[in-house]
Amino acid sequence: MRFYTALINEKEEVLVAFREGGRAYRLKKLAALAPALAVKDMEEIIRRWSVLRGPLEAMSRSEDVLTAAAGELNELALSAPLPRPRQDVICLGINYEEHAEEADKFSSADFGGQRPATIYFSKRVNEAVAPGAFIASHAPLVDSLDYECELAVILGRDCYGVSEAEALDYVFGYTILNDVSARNLQTRHKQWYLGKSLDGFTPMGPCIVTADEIGDPQALTIESYVNGEVRQHSNTKFMLQTVAGAIAELSAGLTLQAGTVIATGTPAGVGMGFDPPRFLRAGDVVDCYVEKIGHLINRVS
Ligand code: MG
Repeated sequence: MRFYTALINEKEEVLVAFREGGRAYRLKKLAALAPALAVKDMEEIIRRWSVLRGPLEAMSRSEDVLTAAAGELNELALSAPLPRPRQDVICLGINYEEHAEEADKFSSADFGGQRPATIYFSKRVNEAVAPGAFIASHAPLVDSLDYECELAVILGRDCYGVSEAEALDYVFGYTILNDVSARNLQTRHKQWYLGKSLDGFTPMGPCIVTADEIGDPQALTIESYVNGEVRQHSNTKFMLQTVAGAIAELSAGLTLQAGTVIATGTPAGVGMGFDPPRFLRAGDVVDCYVEKIGHLINRVS
């Protein structure tokens, strides 16, 4: 299943589609057929997934009766699927080998050296940027605006001390996140939080695809394009730390709450990886793609 958040009559609503490219149905309307589906937002879907999954799967097998509840996706004003994550997004840094090499070349002092263990940092997201909405350029504060296409994991249940073998059972679904970064702030402050957390720096979407539909998260093509030109082209099998490994490692001493978003790092091909660097400019269109999820497209303001 694929869950969307959209603005309908100026209010956020959750919609579900049962297949890629299929019709999206308003949960609010489906609740007339199954009252359990009267949820207020995506967070509630995630937390109550064990109860909601059954009725939704039953509906997916009789889609013909649902037409009245459909919204056509291209007519909807999509929001980010989780417009305001309850906690900071947890990010993995330098999690693809070739990206490690390009970052080292850009600034060895900031990105070089040995990394025997996974780098974790966080990113404040007051409001995630909707598909089609603007990435804020923040000139002149930011002079080196960069994109990072990433697979993002949404946890479905609280977890503490889970093993790598059981970690994926805690995943609700996956989405695409563009970890927009101000390289000048990221390097100036020696800690990445500020340079990653500016308003308008976290495009997310277009939807959350449930874990069952994704299957193996380490076998997905991941790409980005700027103004139609391919910049990143890789596969999640090249992650240094896997999704399951990260959940196990993080949860070993930290309770990860349902609804937690984990951004799993970006492959090579970001703007700072070019010589000279190719940072984003006003008007540029950034298209982030992950197989089985779709495209997340935003323009720089
Ligand atoms: Mg990143």
